[in-house]
Amino acid sequence: MSMFKSPNSFKLSASHLYFSIIIILGCAVFLFTNRGDFLNYTPSQWVWVYAMLGATLVLNYFTFQLPPEGNTQSMDSSVYLACIFIYDAPFALTVILLNFIASIIYIRKIPWWKHLANFSIYSIMIAGSAFIFKVVGGQIGPIENENLHAYIVALIVYFVLNVFLIGCYYYLFYKGTIYEVLKSFVKDTLLVYLSTLILSLVLSVLIVYNGVFGLALFIGLSIMLSYSYKQLFIMYNEIQEKAIKDQRTGLYNHSYFENLLDEEIKNARTLNTPLSLAMIDIDDFKKYNDQFGHLKGDMLLGFLGNFLKNECAQAETIASRFGGEEFTILMPGYNVNKAEHFINSLRKKLNDTYYEGVEIFPAGCLSFSAGIADYREDIHDKSQIVELADQALYYAKKQGKNNVHVYGSGSSKEHDIDFAEDIRDIEQQLKLFLYKDVDTFKHSKRVFRYAIEMSEVLKLESVEKRNFVLGALIHDIGKLEIPWGILNKKDKLTPEEWETVKRHVTWGKRIAETNEKLKDLVPYIELHHERYDGDGYPHGFKETQIPRLCRMLTIIDSFDAMTTERPYQRTKTIEEGIAELRRCSGTQFDPELVEIFIQYMEQRILKMKQPIAGSNL
Ligand code: GH3
Ligand code: MG
Ligand code: MG
Repeated sequence: MSMFKSPNSFKLSASHLYFSIIIILGCAVFLFTNRGDFLNYTPSQWVWVYAMLGATLVLNYFTFQLPPEGNTQSMDSSVYLACIFIYDAPFALTVILLNFIASIIYIRKIPWWKHLANFSIYSIMIAGSAFIFKVVGGQIGPIENENLHAYIVALIVYFVLNVFLIGCYYYLFYKGTIYEVLKSFVKDTLLVYLSTLILSLVLSVLIVYNGVFGLALFIGLSIMLSYSYKQLFIMYNEIQEKAIKDQRTGLYNHSYFENLLDEEIKNARTLNTPLSLAMIDIDDFKKYNDQFGHLKGDMLLGFLGNFLKNECAQAETIASRFGGEEFTILMPGYNVNKAEHFINSLRKKLNDTYYEGVEIFPAGCLSFSAGIADYREDIHDKSQIVELADQALYYAKKQGKNNVHVYGSGSSKEHDIDFAEDIRDIEQQLKLFLYKDVDTFKHSKRVFRYAIEMSEVLKLESVEKRNFVLGALIHDIGKLEIPWGILNKKDKLTPEEWETVKRHVTWGKRIAETNEKLKDLVPYIELHHERYDGDGYPHGFKETQIPRLCRMLTIIDSFDAMTTERPYQRTKTIEEGIAELRRCSGTQFDPELVEIFIQYMEQRILKMKQPIAGSNL
């Protein structure tokens, strides 16, 4: 019947004071109400005391375990209430006294004073509810219908005293407001107490009409129910485990990681403690798959999951599978220095861990690259810290893999990630336009140039800059799929032909998805014809549903289309183009970004006195 968990040690003296008051009060209530009642019991009364004591001990053993936390609830209160209803408070208090003595003898792992505190709380609850039972007209003895209101009131008092006494303890020694404590407490226990009332009445009826046999029936039923609840709880745990764990690696899955990150960010913010996050990507994992097949690759992922789980458990950090062969390690209480040290030691340990087939890796061993970011005050959303760690990871890869990089360190290099190689790759693909549609080739390169300039104006971080600039270069790649006749048609397009042209965003997306390196550019390809007011295609996304830099791409893409030569459309001057952007601000274009672009263009006109569209690319 233990009701208490150990509080933090620094609050020990306060908790001792709480326990002392409860014990003094409880013992006083016991003495005042019981008054040595047991000294006058007849042998048959003693039989019933022992029978009821046995029932409480059995019910304390066969408890009901409730999800989600697995709190155990004993139904022993139904026995005490039945004792009150049939035999009155002194009898119920005698049973609790013997239960207390038996608990001290048999449950030694709980200190005696905690048993005494529990005894005191039960004494207060029993005496309080018995007192009220009689005040509202309840008659001691067989269960009678006209006593129903008194039974209910007695139970309410029993329940309120319980919530109050235990709630005070949790309020004083654990974090939380009174409301939170009461809410969680009432939520957990209300159903149990309702069952307790019904059970106490059932037990009373059984005892009054069937004696010891009735009591035995009650206990038998309780044991079976307790067993069923335990089975249910085991099942609940298994299902819960499946919902939050990744089957392949045994680590937490992505969605659980997101919840955890949310929680840890809240903790870091409220308690002002450090928090670091590492994003880990296994180096050259594709090579292993290619060499040994996906099945062996899966086994290696399982091995890596186990490795991370063991190492992180020892360091009190939490590993999750972010997706594919990417993992996150959440490090509450770790500042970046400590986090870097830990992740580096992990990396070295993995380098030194043999696994079948590691010879095929370029480094000749298992390795990963990792990016670390820590929680700062300007982080409001979990995705920001993930993004920073991801950028640091990207840099670690660029540094030559098997590497750990902390976001923000060595920033001059970090901001200048070399993606010249990626540009060359995309340009190679764009060259197909040289024979199919040279205008699209030139247009892509001009939009690319605008994107570079706007990424300076918008002060984009390295990875954002890379994706925006490359996205601008490749945004029309899907046009390769448009039939030559439509692409180069000089006359106005028919509605069907327009539908075909519009499909280039989806075709482009599919082309980009075939290449890992182009994966991050997909939004630019797919969404650059969406409109701010939601009237664009392919999805009809509006406002912030369209990523910010895609909205910027729409502006520079359209501006270039207006100000360069096109079939069946008069070319606009730069000033006319600016006026057109203004006209469509808020409908086709994001008004804020349009202004940024226009301001930039106007400054350029002033400075250079020549249009960018006419520059030689
Ligand atoms: P890098 O060093 O640049 O990270 O090279 P990489 O080969 O690891 O490339 P990347 O991280 O871009 O690609 C991840 C590869 O991991 C793609 C896929 O073949 C493999 N992969 C992802 N998830 C699984 C999985 O569940 N099982 C198996 N066997 N392979 C996976
Ligand atoms: Mg990867
Ligand atoms: Mg990888």
